[in-house]
Amino acid sequence: MSFWDRIKPAPKPVSATDVQLAPDASALSLTWEDGARTSASAQVLRQQCPCAACVDEWTNRRTLDPARVPADIRIQALQPVGNYALTLTFTDGHGTGIYPWPLLREITQPQG
Ligand SMILES: [Zn+2]
Repeated sequence: MSFWDRIKPAPKPVSATDVQLAPDASALSLTWEDGARTSASAQVLRQQCPCAACVDEWTNRRTLDPARVPADIRIQALQPVGNYALTLTFTDGHGTGIYPWPLLREITQPQG
């Protein structure tokens, strides 16, 4: 390993280059810098909401009961936060979750 290899910065987390909401707003599809395409249903995204109302800030435990998120929930709005995250608002009125790219990459599933 050369000197230059050791001082290389840590790889920057991959970010999405394109975000598509399904026509019926029931799912989100993402295209990533590295060419991967992933998607997740609105229900999964709502269940994984990382905000302080859904996850205990101190213990990091999820306080939201996933069973209480209906299967027919939809995404009402999505808004970029800088170039590192998305804010999603759901049809249950919940819109405080900020989803950074690495979290979205983790909770979405590769598309065929
Ligand atoms: Zn939340």
